[in-house]
Amino acid sequence: MSDAISVVIGWMIGWVVASLGVYAFADWKGKNGLVYFLFALIFSPVIAFIIVAVQPTSQEVLDARALKRGDLKECPNCGVLSGYLAYKCDPCGEPFPRESS
Ligand SMILES: [Zn+2]
Repeated sequence: MSDAISVVIGWMIGWVVASLGVYAFADWKGKNGLVYFLFALIFSPVIAFIIVAVQPTSQEVLDARALKRGDLKECPNCGVLSGYLAYKCDPCGEPFPRESS
């Protein structure tokens, strides 16, 4: 009897931990982690994980990572992103400073 209870408790803990994993995964992809966390808790962490996995990472997150890596430059004048090889901003013509990083 107590074995069955510990199995159930183990499942519940695993379920919550997996849901937290879904939260982190969704957050990493720029999604609303809380929504997917609740979905995972109520339905299934596996289904929630698959839903997050098949969705593209949000563009803002991709841009932020590219900026961090130095693959993109952000125009100090208008904020438009350009490739790291660009020497001036396309939309506004603002020249970029020479490589500083
Ligand atoms: Zn610009």
